[in-house]
Amino acid sequence: MRSLSILGSTGSIGRQTLEVAETCGHRVAALTARSSVDLLEAQARKFHPILVAAAEPTAAAALACRLADTDIRVLAGEEGILAAAALPQADTVVTALVGIAGLAPTLAAIDSGKRIALANKETLVCAGPLVMARAKEKGAEIVPVDSEHSAIFQSLQGSHGKELKRILLTASGGPFFGWSREELAKVTPAHALKHPNWSMGAKVTIDSATLMNKGLELLEAMSLFGVPPEKIEILIHRESILHSAVEYCDNSVIAQLGAPDMRLPIQYALSWPHRTPGPADPLDLFTAGKLTFARPDVTTFRCLALAIQSAKEGGTAPAILNGANEVAVARFLAGEIGFLEIPRVVETALNTVPRGERLTLEAVYEADRAARAAAEAVC
Ligand code: MG
Repeated sequence: MRSLSILGSTGSIGRQTLEVAETCGHRVAALTARSSVDLLEAQARKFHPILVAAAEPTAAAALACRLADTDIRVLAGEEGILAAAALPQADTVVTALVGIAGLAPTLAAIDSGKRIALANKETLVCAGPLVMARAKEKGAEIVPVDSEHSAIFQSLQGSHGKELKRILLTASGGPFFGWSREELAKVTPAHALKHPNWSMGAKVTIDSATLMNKGLELLEAMSLFGVPPEKIEILIHRESILHSAVEYCDNSVIAQLGAPDMRLPIQYALSWPHRTPGPADPLDLFTAGKLTFARPDVTTFRCLALAIQSAKEGGTAPAILNGANEVAVARFLAGEIGFLEIPRVVETALNTVPRGERLTLEAVYEADRAARAAAEAVC
């Protein structure tokens, strides 16, 4: 059993991690969120962590009052999140924060030698080579929570060095699979937030609708598994039953299948290298029906083409892509720009923001800042 620090405990992954912890008997040592005082308090009272942190100082102050009758430590701001990431009593940090905000706490957890149950894809998208090198140096395990990367990770168990030929990365295709650009131009936030198979947070749901999510996952897979973009094939698989696969040098394909239920990859990231019974739904192949596969339409879904382009370029290009996308998605959710404006904003940033000389953390943060400014300017 593990002792967990859950960064982003009130979001979709955070809440499901607590379900897994409860069923599988993991201890909860720390919980953090941005500002959800009511839910953080309820979670703290139920799981009795050592530490709770809220990124927003007013939320942290309110939480400290509410938990005054307990011996739970309450911290505020970025320092509070970093303290939870490095908490000595936790051996595993679940990074369920959204956006590049996950980068600094993930590095803090790596520096403390924790197992990282990685649910924040932007960390590897923006600074993958740096993060992986740091983890290797510190002896910190990084186990993916993202369902596709968990499937790849599971399919790679028991393999050795150079046997991997390529990765087959599956995508549901989102709610607008098969749509034309004319149809996409009319999409509203409410419509884009209805994902056919998965229940997720707003940012990742919009990224799924634009297919940017698959581009970010390609970048994430490159770092996690040490493969170039040419060795990652993206397949649209509408049923979300086969969660990704690997092809070995002997042409054998090993895949992981399961019901679309995030609790399974979360649980595996905690229990690896072992398996235990857990709360995830079982898969019934008789009711699953046909499994279908198709190539993605990167002409209509420009975000995926831009992500592949930035993956091939490397350096700070993926951080620029990500920063501009975070701004564009927020503006789309606020009803300020249209659905097809998202790739236009990202492309503008990629075309105008200068590249860093070398990939350093400073260069990543500078690329992110410049990309956000370039995106804001055209929103
Ligand atoms: Mg995914």
